[in-house]
Amino acid sequence: ESFTDMCLHPSIMKDIAYHEYTRPTSIQAQAMPIALSGRDLLGCAETGSGKTAAFTIPMIQHCLAQSPIRRSGPLALVLAPTRELAQQIEKEVKAFSRSLESLKTAIVVGGTNIEKQRSELRAGVEIAVATPGRFIDHLQQGNTSLSRISFVVLDEADRMLDMGFEPQIREVMRNLPEKHQTLLFSATMPVEIEALAKEYLASPVQVKV
Ligand code: AMP
Repeated sequence: ESFTDMCLHPSIMKDIAYHEYTRPTSIQAQAMPIALSGRDLLGCAETGSGKTAAFTIPMIQHCLAQSPIRRSGPLALVLAPTRELAQQIEKEVKAFSRSLESLKTAIVVGGTNIEKQRSELRAGVEIAVATPGRFIDHLQQGNTSLSRISFVVLDEADRMLDMGFEPQIREVMRNLPEKHQTLLFSATMPVEIEALAKEYLASPVQVKV
């Protein structure tokens, strides 16, 4: 499998070439065709495997296929356990949407200026990369909404559960619009992750590296 076979938007292909990703990593070769087909995915992969691009590229492609109306909440949401990881993910989103001005991304994490996040979210974004606690804060304050989200990624889900974010994850997952695609990545697959996957993923394809 090559990136060329994946029918990606030309702008994404250009960015892939620019970043000198010559061939997909194992997790990318396995997960991207599934994610691009619209199916739910349960991915067992660690940092360093290339998992970030495995979900950011299909997420960008998904957003490009939606109608371009802003100001009513993001189209895609990534939840990650830490600010550092969220920043890394945002960087990767930017890397593969360099010339896509129609796609705005907000990073929504704790420990940074909540006012700036509020105004960014209120102005409208297509993609939000967030830590669960801070994202829920903004939801409760009415700064953003789940009403338009049709693509969700739970990254490092095992770590999010270890950090006590299960209630926040469930709060998001049970209030999503009915029609949405979910990708769940986890380095380990304890029973708690299996339970979460069973509850919130629809006939997921499981991939493992
Ligand atoms: P990740 O596991 O997503 O944190 O990625 C680990 C590192 O691999 C990052 O520095 C990526 O930029 C890099 N990377 C991801 N996919 C590829 C690829 N297909 N070719 C070359 N480098 C990659």
